[in-house]
Amino acid sequence: MTKFFLLICTALLPFVYSSQTVSYDIYALKFGERKNKISIEEVAVGETSGDSTKVFFMYWLLKGSNGKNILVDAGFTEDAKVDTQKITFTAPEKLLAVVNVKPEEITDIIITHPHWDHIGGIDLYPSAMVWMQQKDYDDLISKKKNPEASGYNKADIQKVLKRKENGTLKLLQAKRDEVIMPNVTVVTASVHTPGSQYVTAYNGKQNVFIASDNCKYYHNIIRMKSIPGPHDQKAYVRTLRNMKAMMPDIDLIIPGHDPLVFEKFKSVGKDVVEIKK
Ligand SMILES: [Zn+2]
Repeated sequence: MTKFFLLICTALLPFVYSSQTVSYDIYALKFGERKNKISIEEVAVGETSGDSTKVFFMYWLLKGSNGKNILVDAGFTEDAKVDTQKITFTAPEKLLAVVNVKPEEITDIIITHPHWDHIGGIDLYPSAMVWMQQKDYDDLISKKKNPEASGYNKADIQKVLKRKENGTLKLLQAKRDEVIMPNVTVVTASVHTPGSQYVTAYNGKQNVFIASDNCKYYHNIIRMKSIPGPHDQKAYVRTLRNMKAMMPDIDLIIPGHDPLVFEKFKSVGKDVVEIKK
C-alpha cells in the first residue's frame, strides 16, 4: 500500500511541478532624482529638438510566488558622495516598506551593470546573493586606480571583493541569455559596460523586460538612438532593435532613468509602481 502510494506520488510529481508557474509582482522603485533636467542630446545622439527631461534613479523588485524577493540593481548609498545640491535621494531600502518587504528578506540581487548608481546599495540587503557578469566584475576590479573615470565608485570595488571572498557573489559567464531562476532570464546586451545585461521576468500576465541602462529612456527605443558615450553605439542600437523585435509593446521595456515609467504604470504607494497591464 505504502509502495503503491509512493509510486503514484512520484508519477504525479512532474505534473504538479509544471502546473505551478512561478510569477513575480514586478515593481519600479524611485529613490532619487537630479534637480536639473538634462537636454535631449544627452539622452539620444543626434537629437536637436531642444527638449529636456528629468533624470530619475530607480531599481526594481521581483516579488516571486515562490518566496524569492529579487532586486534588479540596488540603488546607491551615501558613500557615492553625490552632490546633494544636484541630486536628491532617500535610502533606497526604505522604499521596500511600500510593498511589505524587509531589506533582510531580499534573497537575490541581479546587477545589470556596476555603475555607481546601480550597484552601490548591495550591502543594504544582508541575506542577498549578488549576480553579475564576470566581464563586468573584471572591468570594475581592473579600474581600481581611477574607477570614477568609468562611472564606478571606489567603495563598490571593496563590496564586491568582500562578497567574492565570502561566497555571496555569483559570476555569470556571458552567455547571450541564461535562465538563472524560474521565469527570470538575463540577456547580455549593448556593451554599455563590457558585460551589461537586461533582465526578463514574468508577471503572471506578461513578460517584462527590465532594460535598465541598455535603454535609458523610452525615447531611445522609440527613435532607435543610442545614448551618447564612449561605448559601441551601433551595438547599443542593435540591442534596442532586438528588444523591440521580441517585445512589440515597448511600454514593457522598462528604461533605466525615465520618469515616464511612473506615469505609465499604476502607483502602489509613494514612488513605487507595479509593472503590469
Ligand atoms: Zn549606467
